[in-house]
This record gives sequence, C-alpha cells and structure tokens, in this order.
Amino acid sequence: MSSTKELKERLFHVKKNGWESLNEESRQNIHNYAKGYMDFLNESKTEREIIATSKKMAESQGFKCICEYESLKPGDKVYFINREKSMYLAIIGEEPIENGINVIGAHADSPRLDLKPNPLYEDGGFAYFKTHYYGGIKKYQWTTVPLAIHGVIVKPNGEKVQVCIGEDENDPIFQVTDLLPHLAQEQMEKKLKDGITGENLNVLIGSIPYADEDGTEKVKLNIMNILNQKYGITEIDFLSSELEVVPATKARSMGFDSSMVAAYGQDDKVCVYTELTAMLDMKNIPAKTAVAIISDKEEIGSMGNTGMESNMFDTFMAEVLDKLGVNRPNLIDKVFSNSKMLSADVDAGFDPIYASVSEKNNASFLGYGIGMCKYTGARGKSGASDANAEFVAEVRKILEDSDIKYQISELGKVDVGGGGTIAYILADKGMDVIDCGVPVLCMHSPYEVTSKFDVYEAYRTYKAFWENCK
Ligand code: MN
Ligand code: MN
Repeated sequence: MSSTKELKERLFHVKKNGWESLNEESRQNIHNYAKGYMDFLNESKTEREIIATSKKMAESQGFKCICEYESLKPGDKVYFINREKSMYLAIIGEEPIENGINVIGAHADSPRLDLKPNPLYEDGGFAYFKTHYYGGIKKYQWTTVPLAIHGVIVKPNGEKVQVCIGEDENDPIFQVTDLLPHLAQEQMEKKLKDGITGENLNVLIGSIPYADEDGTEKVKLNIMNILNQKYGITEIDFLSSELEVVPATKARSMGFDSSMVAAYGQDDKVCVYTELTAMLDMKNIPAKTAVAIISDKEEIGSMGNTGMESNMFDTFMAEVLDKLGVNRPNLIDKVFSNSKMLSADVDAGFDPIYASVSEKNNASFLGYGIGMCKYTGARGKSGASDANAEFVAEVRKILEDSDIKYQISELGKVDVGGGGTIAYILADKGMDVIDCGVPVLCMHSPYEVTSKFDVYEAYRTYKAFWENCK
C-alpha cells in the first residue's frame, strides 16, 4: 500500500454502505427483524393502535402499569398510558435515580387526513367525508390511493365505538378522487402545492341512494343508515369522534433484494418499534433507569395533553420518584439535568433524484446506519436543539464500542431544509439530547421507505444506549 493511501485511510472519515461487510447470518437477522417490524406496522396505523399494541407487547415481557406498584425497586418494569395516545415505559436502574435517567423518545402519530367534526355530505350522487389534514403533507399524494378509516366514536353515555375499516381484504376501501388529465389543463398549470386544495381532500364513501324514499340526500341517508346498523351511531355522534383516514396499504419489502421497507407511517413508528423492542429485549437491570417515550401530536407541534409539551411526562417521573421513596422538593429537576436522551425520530434520507436539496457530505444515506442530527432547525439553526459536542462524543463511543454504523447529518442544505422533533422539549428540562433515528425516503407520503439495515441498527443503537450510557 502506498503511504498516501495508508495516510488517507488513517485520517479520513469514510462512510461505508452497511450491507457490504455483513455475513449471511447478519443479513438474515436483519430480514427477520424487519418482518416483525412490518407485522407491527400492519397491526397498528394510528397512535391509539400503536399504544394498544405496545401495551400488549410490554405486558408480555413483564411490564405492569405503574398504578399497580406501591413501591419501586431496581429491575421493576413499569408503564403509564396517557389517554390511550401516548405512553411512557421504564426499567428501574441500579443507581440512585438522582444520577439521571437514560431516555429514548419517539412519536406514534403520523400525517393523515382527520375527519372534520361534521364530515358527512352528499353531492352529485355521491356521499363524502370532509377532512382536515393532520401534519405536513403534499396534498396531491393523498388522491387516488386506497384509504382506510381508523379511530373511535364516543357517545355521550361513554360508550366507545372502535372503527377500523379498509384493512381487511374483504373490507371496502375509500378514496380521494382527482381529475382526469383530459380535463386537468387548468389544474396542471397551478403550482404543485395548489393543485389539490385542503377543502378538496374529501373522501368518497358511497353512491347508492336509499330505496323507497322521496326527498333529497338519499345517498347520504343510505350511508348514515349503514353506519347506524354497523356502529350504532347517528350523524351527531361524529361530533365526538376521532376518525383518521390513512392509506389502506400494507407494509411490504421493497426492491429485488428486499433491502427496504415501504409502508405508511414509518415516521415515526420505525423509532417506536425499535426503541420498544430494544427495551423489551434488555436482559440485565441497567445501571441508570431506562425510560422510553411514545409521544403523540409531534407532527402538529407536540401541543395538547398527549403531546410532549404537556406536563404529563414530569407527572409520570414524579410518580416514579414517589414510589422509589426518594422524592423531595426539586429532585425531579436534578434528575432531568443529569439525564441523557436520544430523540428517536426519522431523518431525511438522501434521494439521488432530488440531490439538489441535500449537501452530500452532510446527508444521511439509506443503508449507512442510524442517522444522527446534531441540530435541526432552519435558517441559521433557528429553533434548533443543538447537541453538545461532549454528549455527541459520548454517544459516538457507545456506538463505536458496539460496532454500530452511524452517520451524522443535517436535514437538507443550509437555508433549504429544516425541521423539528421533540428534542428541544427534553433539552429544555436540562437533559443532554441528540436526534437519532432512521433515514427515510418519501417522508410524510402515503408510502415511506426505509432500509432494513438502518432499522436494525436503530434497534442496536437504542439497546446499546440503555445498556451502556453512563
Ligand atoms: Mn417524526
Ligand atoms: Mn414527521
């Protein structure tokens, strides 16, 4: 080897494709893990469903509601569920909790179309649901794809009707229509963002008029009659419902080599699944208390009492301190300021077809491992939670000691990209936080793409963090 080549190898930081160095057994592990991940996605498409599935998985591994414990000791496994939409899990560590906790936090909500409070109407012989989109979407992507409806309808007497239609092979699906190209000349001249308006995101749900009945709105009546028979509801019950329209597609392996996962809602269910399985697979009692967050409302700013901005997490931690028998005034602040966190949220993967929005040296590539963002924010790092170099070094050490492939990137070019996660909220409490998640293509679209390699590295990252972070 020439001395120049040697010197380069010793001094340069060269990123390598993670698949290359893998033996057959490791590849098989990755595909097997991805299978479990895809099953998880197919079972749970909304935040409520994710929490229900996560509860089941946690209980099967010995986790119990914190309400069932009178006191806590090292090794105890607890969870707390907030209004069926967000969840915190913890394994109590050996060290005094005053030394801090190790937190990993992901979110279960994904962009979608929510039904409006008064959704049902008839026009031109069709019945429709009106929607208000949730989170940042490119509206045109949500037309002409098969859609399912998930959620709850709560009646004034407290009865809660669960809705999930469009997932079973025998279920009908729904659709937002779009104009045929022949008549779309005017639409095609519009800017992409204006081609489909929010008020046009109406879901087509039926076309048969109610029989033997004079009068108007007979298609609407027929649909309402079907809904009444199926769910026992009348139109006014929509007022107290949360019905989410999501793609009816299943998670699938993608590519001739099956190297990728294509699925709805991988932002951020991929981090939910990887953190959850990492926690459930922990064999030994960790030194520091390990805490997992499954948050809600991240896509719309983390507001409300199920979002990370609410005080519910502090309330949970206060209960942990109480039940450990160590609580005293301001202890929680001390715990938080000694704590470390991985904000487990997806990263924008480099897409060669749209290379111009990224800066290649600081982009995350699919198949190159877990992606970390030292800071997010936009235009001069505005609004960013910028991880301290000392903490980045600590995380690097954990990853390098476990031979985990990672990359540190920015979300797009300077003055082009930007975004936010729940990182700043925990940083505000005094924790050291870094964004750390799986790179995704087509983020916020009805069918997002990840690399199975990165999904598995995320699982290994989260496990190594809880096991080894001092
Ligand atoms: Mn996200
Ligand atoms: Mn998002």
